[in-house]
Amino acid sequence: MTFGQLGLQPWVVKQCAALALDKPTEVQRLCIPAVLAGKHVVGGAVTGSGKTAAFALPMLQILSEEMYGVFALVMTPSRELAYQIVDQFVAFGAPIAARTAVIIGGVPHDTQLDAIKARPHCIVATPGRLKFHMEKFPEVLAAMQNIRFLVLDEADRLTEGDIAADTTSVIESLGTPKPFRRTLLFSATLDSRLTTVGEGSLLASLGVSS
Ligand code: AMP
Repeated sequence: MTFGQLGLQPWVVKQCAALALDKPTEVQRLCIPAVLAGKHVVGGAVTGSGKTAAFALPMLQILSEEMYGVFALVMTPSRELAYQIVDQFVAFGAPIAARTAVIIGGVPHDTQLDAIKARPHCIVATPGRLKFHMEKFPEVLAAMQNIRFLVLDEADRLTEGDIAADTTSVIESLGTPKPFRRTLLFSATLDSRLTTVGEGSLLASLGVSS
């Protein structure tokens, strides 16, 4: 199985080769065709399985067909993971000049607000800082209203402990899921906690029907 056989265009396949991704991992084989087909994806995948490329590659291909910002919001539980995801988006998306912004704690607010005003295609964020920005700056909330993809990376960690309330709050502030928004949820474990965050089912609140 090759990346091309998964439905990726030649420029994406070329980029995989340039970045030493020789053949797709299991999560990539399962996820890439599903994302390209416009499906919601719920996947069990740990860090190191290649899950970032599994969602980034098909999302970037779809973005390349109609470039507008803000196209995707990726939520992840830690600053380190956020930077790792951004690095991969920047590397994979270089041929189409995809713009990515990171919204995490420990970075001056002004810098991050400027990054959002620059209309990035993808925002990679930790929930606490993103919630703060959405509440304080109406333009941040406005920028998120037409996203095509909501990615919950390490959803098990996004929905446990103190971070869970921030995750729920961000999702709620995105409003009723739009018909064109797809949810891609990855988790090391797919247990009941993912369906019991906040009021009712997390997946239902994301517009994902089983
Ligand atoms: P992730 O699971 O997204 O944290 O990816 C872990 C690492 O695996 C990253 O450094 C990727 O560059 C690398 N990687 C992703 N997909 C592949 C692949 N198909 N072949 C080899 N390495 C890969």
